[in-house]
Amino acid sequence: MNFDSPDPSEIIAASLTLFGEKNIAVVSSFGAESVVLLHLIAQHSQDVPVFFIDTRKHFSETHNYRKTLIDELGLRDVRILNPTERDLADKDPTGELHKTDPDSCCAVRKINPLIEVRSQFQAWFTGRKRYQAATRSKLQIFEFENGGAKINPLAGMSNDDVSNYVSEHDLPRHPMTYMGYPSIGCEPCTQPADADDPRTGRWSGFKKTECGIHSKPDPTETTV
Ligand code: SF4
Repeated sequence: MNFDSPDPSEIIAASLTLFGEKNIAVVSSFGAESVVLLHLIAQHSQDVPVFFIDTRKHFSETHNYRKTLIDELGLRDVRILNPTERDLADKDPTGELHKTDPDSCCAVRKINPLIEVRSQFQAWFTGRKRYQAATRSKLQIFEFENGGAKINPLAGMSNDDVSNYVSEHDLPRHPMTYMGYPSIGCEPCTQPADADDPRTGRWSGFKKTECGIHSKPDPTETTV
């Protein structure tokens, strides 16, 4: 591996060798750029566990796209996580918590469902890239914390790299990318945005820029 400019595919191959394909997982939002990491992983193994957190606030297009990618990439171990009924009843009974307290909403609908599974794996692939946000500008490829590893094979990819990869491999794009959505999460918290600054389309009106599963205490990460 060239450590000055590591190839994402080589990073994934080395990680799978190091940890084993059943000890490493990925959380995918099946959003705008998710296909790149999922395709790269599937070239090495279609049995790597892929977790999708069904917040119950996703666009219907995202659910359909998930099914498309499972079929097209041959993903054999996609698992759905859900918020608990108890959490929803206690903390978001009206389903409108995102309007007043998106951090708590993300905790109920994204972070809590991951808690049980995160310790079951030694490492997690993420799809984060440095270009996506100022908060990611110094992102390292390998991060170790709390006994777990986060591996960011795409850290050095640019917006153009991502788009070119999708085109070169003739991969299906999320249909909403054709409607001006360069970053796609839950429906109430996603707006069209400039492709060069995709995270500005998330949580419009709030200072929030990350869902919280990117925070230090959690060794997991989404591909968005
Ligand atoms: S992205 Fe919005 S709707 Fe989804 S869990 Fe977070 S605050 Fe709630």
